[in-house]
Amino acid sequence: MMSCCDKSIEKSKAVALCPKCGLSCKSVAMRTLYHQVKFPENLKIVQDHYYFCPDNSCSTAYFSGSGKVIVKQDLRKLAEIESAKLCYCFDIDSVDYTQALKSGSAESIKAFVLQKTKAADCACAVQNPSGLCCLAEFKRLEKAEQ
Ligand SMILES: [Zn+2]
Repeated sequence: MMSCCDKSIEKSKAVALCPKCGLSCKSVAMRTLYHQVKFPENLKIVQDHYYFCPDNSCSTAYFSGSGKVIVKQDLRKLAEIESAKLCYCFDIDSVDYTQALKSGSAESIKAFVLQKTKAADCACAVQNPSGLCCLAEFKRLEKAEQ
């Protein structure tokens, strides 16, 4: 079964440099943009190949190779991006998970997310502004806490 967190999908992502901050950014599907951009800005989205800049301090959200830019201010989840949301599908904050790692309850949270991801009950492709699975972010936080 192909889920949004399928490894082959993640690996097939193209990469481009953010024109604002220069960070290496991964491509996103048009479907992701339509679920993330606010009305009425979503009406103005032009079909193109877009990339998402994951740097919270960068004003650019999506950009295309041909120079189209959508700013983070135009996203529905700006507050969540600014507060470093970890898992958009199940509403888990980075702070929540960092505390869980400290108190030893992180395993059950991660097990829940893994189980739901395997069952394809996650919706990263539309819920996460990056369109990517959040499991890599869980691993990044775990490493940071070690
Ligand atoms: Zn950027």
